[in-house]
Amino acid sequence: MFHSARLKLTSWYLVIIMAITLVFSLIIYQVMTLELERGLRRFGNRIDIEGLEILLPPRLQREQLDERLIEDLEIAKHLILIRLLTIDGAILIISALAGWFLAGKTLLPIEIALEEQKRFVGDASHELRTPLTALKTSTEVVLRSKKLNLKQARQALESNLEEIEQLDNLSSDLLSLAKLQSSSKTLSFSQIEIKKVVQKVHKQLSPLIKKKKIRLELDANDLTLKADENSLTQMLVILLDNAVKYSKTGGRVWVKVDRYRNQMRIEVKDEGLGISKEDLPHIFDRFYRTDQARSKSQISGFGLGLSLAKRIVKLHGGKIEVSSTVGVGSRFRVII
Ligand code: ADP
Repeated sequence: MFHSARLKLTSWYLVIIMAITLVFSLIIYQVMTLELERGLRRFGNRIDIEGLEILLPPRLQREQLDERLIEDLEIAKHLILIRLLTIDGAILIISALAGWFLAGKTLLPIEIALEEQKRFVGDASHELRTPLTALKTSTEVVLRSKKLNLKQARQALESNLEEIEQLDNLSSDLLSLAKLQSSSKTLSFSQIEIKKVVQKVHKQLSPLIKKKKIRLELDANDLTLKADENSLTQMLVILLDNAVKYSKTGGRVWVKVDRYRNQMRIEVKDEGLGISKEDLPHIFDRFYRTDQARSKSQISGFGLGLSLAKRIVKLHGGKIEVSSTVGVGSRFRVII
């Protein structure tokens, strides 16, 4: 597909360049032959008197060139035409090569974006299929059971509800990712108080924090920054949610916000599972989950959180770093 698009684009470049070149060549040819003719006519109307060249007065000037000069003019015209055509041919070859190169350069980002989108759709449908299949199977099993009682039906519905909640989370994550991927225009920047954002995130995650009996330490200064409040909240939810999710029951988690070289530094630290050196370079990839996270079935997730967080930080012109040791804990640091 891209090969034919590249060919088409090159042809268009060529058509335009050659049209301009041919028009200019025509003009150059006309002007040159006219000037040549005029020059020759002037030459033919000069007479040589005792070594002095004198132009004949207008009434004596000949309108027509003599035969020899006409012949010379024709030869010169022919030569000009050949030179111009040779130059046009060279321009054609150079333009074709340059056009092919430029078309490739123009189409490359589009090709990459399209590939990326294809992969995204493929990954997303794969991730959607797993919970959908589980839902379908459990519903079919329940429906097939002839001695289904109310308790069993309730249990089945509850487990289906959990799957549906997971699907709901997945689809909203996918939607956020798609929105943030397309452009930064979806963000609306304003002066926000980071302390309020931290408190909001704490409130949102407090059921999970309580359930896992996490000892959370919050330390946020009264700082303000220009940011998109919703996405910054979302980013902090992802980091804190992970810190809690991947911590043992009763573990400790720290959230610290301070100023760092005229920028804002947000740190989320835990004493949880930790991430191995092999996994660290991939955790920001879409749908990447470490084997540890996958094997612990009670830890839900689709591997989209950190890629979303990274995108949000990038749209704020910041950076996100991680350091982690298996069995000791992890520290995520955002600088905006
Ligand atoms: P998930 O939905 O699986 O949490 P994320 O994109 O948020 O997806 O994280 C990707 C992977 O990085 C997780 O599956 C987990 O293996 C690892 N990870 C992220 N945060 C932590 C953390 N605080 N402690 C240990 N592992 C983490």
